[in-house]
Amino acid sequence: MEIMKYPFVKNFINGQFIEYNNKRILNVESPSDGSVIAEVGLSDITDLDLAVKHATAAQKRWEKIPIKERVQVFFRYKQLLEKNSKELSGLVIEECGKTYSEASAEIEKAIELTEFACSMPQLIAGETLEVSRGVECRIEHWPLGVVASIVPFNFPSMVPHWTICNAIVLGNAMIIKPSEIVPISCQKIAILLKEAGLPDGVFSVVNGDKEMVEAICDHPGIDAVSFVGSTKVAKLVYARACSHFKRVLALGGAKNHLIVLPDAHPEMTGSNVAASMTGCAGQRCMAASVMIAVGKADHIIEKVCEEAGKIVAGRNMGSVISEQARERIERYITEAEKQGAKIRVDGRGTTVEGREKGYYVGPTVIDFVKPEMLVACEEIFGPVISIIRVETIEDAISIENNNPYGNAAAVFTQSGGLAKQVIEKASAGMIGVNIGVPVPREPFSFGGWNESKFGTADITGKSSIEFWTRLKKITIKWNPESRTNWMS
Ligand code: NAD
Repeated sequence: MEIMKYPFVKNFINGQFIEYNNKRILNVESPSDGSVIAEVGLSDITDLDLAVKHATAAQKRWEKIPIKERVQVFFRYKQLLEKNSKELSGLVIEECGKTYSEASAEIEKAIELTEFACSMPQLIAGETLEVSRGVECRIEHWPLGVVASIVPFNFPSMVPHWTICNAIVLGNAMIIKPSEIVPISCQKIAILLKEAGLPDGVFSVVNGDKEMVEAICDHPGIDAVSFVGSTKVAKLVYARACSHFKRVLALGGAKNHLIVLPDAHPEMTGSNVAASMTGCAGQRCMAASVMIAVGKADHIIEKVCEEAGKIVAGRNMGSVISEQARERIERYITEAEKQGAKIRVDGRGTTVEGREKGYYVGPTVIDFVKPEMLVACEEIFGPVISIIRVETIEDAISIENNNPYGNAAAVFTQSGGLAKQVIEKASAGMIGVNIGVPVPREPFSFGGWNESKFGTADITGKSSIEFWTRLKKITIKWNPESRTNWMS
């Protein structure tokens, strides 16, 4: 048997790493050099049954612990994340192909998400009011029970932390299904949560693929499902889990538009657009994908090309996730070229010395794109920006509005009035003004509109409380006078 860099990736159930019932196994690759670094087992329904059985028992005990005590686990966990941040960043680099600064930013964000969860007791302090004489109404937040979180490949540590801490602090037990492409980070998360004192069974990891996602949607012991991934799968998960009357929040893909007006600051806009399209090799649901240049914006387009040209795969940009991803991205670029678009910066055929088997695509700027071209319509999920040139801000807003997604939109301008026009009219859940990746930081919540999100509430921040809890409304009549009714 070949010795791998990382141990065999197991399920974590009832506080232990355990063997699978199933014998299906997948290789885990490091996309930066194509080497196989681990193997992951793919669970079947009996593995999930076991996780749900232990999670159900653990959740009943966990919800009885007052939230001020529950949260102490996460104060300790935050310290453990800080202490282990180098190792956690290293895992993200290995399994996802990110640069060191991207991976450490991801862990910093995981720490910030944990910090937010620690403030939960302050946020959910109940409401109470004497609604009539001697009669009091009170509202309490109650957990849902056993909840599941299905996550994508592009943030192996941050996206799990979108859901884990808030859901568990609020009294739920969580079963997470990592992406089978990047399953290693969640192993370390499980170890650290246990070390922080989280009782066994409150957090479980069940590895698997499509089969496990479907089993989670169908399982009668799971009360709520959160999903983050592509729109195609988000729709399947939303429909399937809803058909079993579960509470579901499914975040999907994106096609983010940056509207660049001629008065925008050229240097700042150029570097922001280039950073937004290339960060995490363009594999971010908040990445810039289309730049709509309004009017005489050639000087800014030149800056975007110049800045994109400074970004070098293998140096200040990581790899894409797989050979298939590289092929898909290059296909989109070639297709646009065939349709008459002009490739200003070309990232096709990129190799990195010493890592020839890694999956790299260089930054790519495609100019003179028409709104109907595939590169302008579909999520590419690579370091590629399509530039569409229009005459007016109204044309730009109309193109943004016509795309089916709705994660982010941004405007670059020095005019407050024009910025306000985009803020008001863009059809997206997260809007940026002079910022290329408008990710709201805690306590503000993360979530898109349209085909980028299915379900109500957002996945992080204050809005997530709505998703992870249900309200109990209590009316108490303290007034002993029998003739006094509750309306008195
Ligand atoms: P994906 O949809 O392929 O996979 C996401 C999860 O679904 C994984 O755990 C995977 O095992 C599972 N899955 C895959 N195919 C399935 C199927 N046919 N049936 C059931 N389950 C299935 O997404 P990905 O490639 O891992 O991640 C990239 C996508 O995620 C992009 O579209 C990106 O925009 C999106 N994303 C969105 C957000 C957001 O906040 N909206 C955040 C991160 C990533």
